[in-house]
Amino acid sequence: MSLLELRGVSGGYGPVQVLHGLDLTVDEGEVVVILGANGAGKTTTLRAISGMLDDVSGNVFFDAAEITSKAPQAIARAGISHVPQGRGTFGDLTVEDNLRLGAINRRDGGVESDIARWYETFPRLAERRTQAAGSMSGGEQQMLAIARALMARPRILLLDEPSLGLAPLITREVFERLGQINKEDGLAMLVVEQNASLALAIASRGCVLETGRIVASGPADQLMADETVRKAYLGF
Ligand code: ATP
Repeated sequence: MSLLELRGVSGGYGPVQVLHGLDLTVDEGEVVVILGANGAGKTTTLRAISGMLDDVSGNVFFDAAEITSKAPQAIARAGISHVPQGRGTFGDLTVEDNLRLGAINRRDGGVESDIARWYETFPRLAERRTQAAGSMSGGEQQMLAIARALMARPRILLLDEPSLGLAPLITREVFERLGQINKEDGLAMLVVEQNASLALAIASRGCVLETGRIVASGPADQLMADETVRKAYLGF
């Protein structure tokens, strides 16, 4: 069984059904990308996984255990860290306090060494460790959101459009770091992203979501070569 597995997942907001029977898997150590136009249901898919959607039917399995509709805290404790769109860091708190909050559920002694480790991966966070998170640039805040999620020592990272609002150079850097973390730690990731070429470059597989249904899926290089995908999401 895959690390994360969605079987026939449907759901939405009250009377509005957004997802229509999604099947999706992420294996241990794998990066999978979800592409799709605005409103296709990408964010809703991540919310269905992390317990933030009220009406979910079908099944979500994580590490062979069913987690469908469990409380967000329980799902986070099971090893799923969600970096939401808009990042969700605490703007008034320092960089370092945000990182500590990411480890709030941990009872092991490795928090300090993990902070040092992520400062090494994201040197700009180290330089700004005593600065209020909200005073940093968008790119730095995105890196903080990722580092904070990593502080929970997750087994999978859910990332919702990490490139949103970032300059191209910074977006590139964010994806380079994600690719590096995936390679070094073998950390699985499920990435929702509009910047298809950068996301597919670090992914092994991807899928395209259209009005809550998966309309194409396959290995990243195949999707990259697919003419429909290229026209719609890669712009060439
Ligand atoms: P985007 O790239 O714009 O974030 P998306 O693919 O992530 O798009 P979702 O955010 O999952 O799409 O939204 C899917 C549909 O659900 C849209 O039609 C949206 O209007 C609707 N929707 C999203 N959030 C809510 C909500 N809280 N209440 C009602 N409808 C919602």
